[in-house]
Amino acid sequence: MDNTKKHDISIFAEFVDKDLEIEFLNYDMKRYEKFIGPLVLIFGIIYMIFFVSDYFAIKNLSSLIIILFIRVLFLVISILIFLKLKEFNNSNNLVYIITAYELLAIIGFLVIINHYDSLSYLLSISVIIITLAIYITPNKLIFSQITSILLILSFFIFHLKRIQSIETFMFLKLLSYNLITIIYCNIGAYLTNFYKRKQFADSKELLRVSITDPLTDIYNRTKFNEELDQWVNHYKNDECTLSLVMFDIDDFKRINDGYGHLIGDNVIQNIVDTIKKIIRNTDIFARWGGDEFVILLPHTDKHQAMEMMERMRLCIQNSKHYKGENITCSFGLVTLRKNDNAESLLQRVDRLLFDAKDCGKNAIVYEKDRMIEQIRI
Ligand code: GH3
Ligand code: MG
Repeated sequence: MDNTKKHDISIFAEFVDKDLEIEFLNYDMKRYEKFIGPLVLIFGIIYMIFFVSDYFAIKNLSSLIIILFIRVLFLVISILIFLKLKEFNNSNNLVYIITAYELLAIIGFLVIINHYDSLSYLLSISVIIITLAIYITPNKLIFSQITSILLILSFFIFHLKRIQSIETFMFLKLLSYNLITIIYCNIGAYLTNFYKRKQFADSKELLRVSITDPLTDIYNRTKFNEELDQWVNHYKNDECTLSLVMFDIDDFKRINDGYGHLIGDNVIQNIVDTIKKIIRNTDIFARWGGDEFVILLPHTDKHQAMEMMERMRLCIQNSKHYKGENITCSFGLVTLRKNDNAESLLQRVDRLLFDAKDCGKNAIVYEKDRMIEQIRI
């Protein structure tokens, strides 16, 4: 999926790309984590407090016991969510839990009002309050829509006739209050969800651009330096398992001068594609500048790195380039030593690359034993 399509947002204010949506939810729900717990707890307490009005309105003891059970159950579930929220490390699951929680509140409310002989006009306004609570709670827009519509429909279908002395005017008033609430909540929630995702996509794109080389779409020097620092730090006490390769296209000026810079650009892209097919997902490949590239090979000792580089060298040499041009690269390779840092590694590998050029190009040069493997065209 190309980047513009990947960042498309559906009419339900979700990323069309499922993976991106999950990534966004993880980020967004993490931000609201501190807020969801107390919110759920407050809902649970308010739900419980309404037992006071049940107590004065309902005379039947068994009905009261059922209502008390529902309200206490809801409070207990609210407390459990409040306490266990941090354990839901998958935000997608958290969305389902919030939706189930909202459905439970709705079902509980409908069962409770079923025990009332008749409903006061004021009680019927609670539908609006529950709708507002649903939209305040962070959730996917589609789930908030499903739960709020279920609430309003079931209320109007099953309980409307039971509202005391309801006249047509009152009915229309109640209906329009509900409609206004749901429209208002939906517009607000849509805009919030849309702009949150847009901002997320924009900052992701900005980050991508800031670490990517525009011609080859691999990492740029800034990102590589950052990765190199981190890996050198990581391997501080475990030398020989981090290898660094630097390579440069041989006689590249000849391609530019002979065929122009656009063909030169194509050659650079072809070489990058060739290398990408050989390296592993864990390797860090970047454009160092001009026709020079670097590859960081974690968990790779000298022999494994030499093997990979030889494959790279041969693949580039045997690839079909513009008008059958023969293109080769020269490589320098170092592995991490005790007391090395990013700078010392880079200095050494740069020196080895120079040696590889010096000894006739199309060569791989590794330090220590100064073994120079030189393969002439
Ligand atoms: P050597 O074998 O010693 O590396 O010789 P070379 O001709 O490759 O010389 P050098 O590496 O010093 O020169 C790199 C050339 O690459 C110089 C520059 O014009 C060209 N170059 C740098 N960046 C780009 C680019 O993005 N596109 C194109 N087409 N050319 C570039
Ligand atoms: Mg060059």
